[in-house]
Amino acid sequence: MKRVRFSVYRTVGEARLQAGLLEGSGLSVEIRGEALAPLGGEIPSTETWVELWLPEEEVARARELLAELEEDGEKASRVVECPGCREENPGNFELCWSCGEELPESPRPRLRAVS
Ligand SMILES: [Zn+2]
Repeated sequence: MKRVRFSVYRTVGEARLQAGLLEGSGLSVEIRGEALAPLGGEIPSTETWVELWLPEEEVARARELLAELEEDGEKASRVVECPGCREENPGNFELCWSCGEELPESPRPRLRAVS
């Protein structure tokens, strides 16, 4: 089975987290370079690298998964104001938790210029 390098991380923790997510979705991830990573953090983090390798045919699926995860995280960290009752809702909600009104598709940033 031919494997290709999928991504590079500066810390083992990051790489493991990502590998865990992909493995949880049934992909066969391999972590390389882990042994070179410092344990005590004495070497500057820029000199640490950990790579994730995947079978060639699983790369497209992995990219899709990560894109989905990223989108979810971004949405959840934003706040949407309900057009009906002005309550604030997490950005990944489709309906207002307070009044059930449908929320707008593109959430506004929490910080707005005061006019
Ligand atoms: Zn509402």
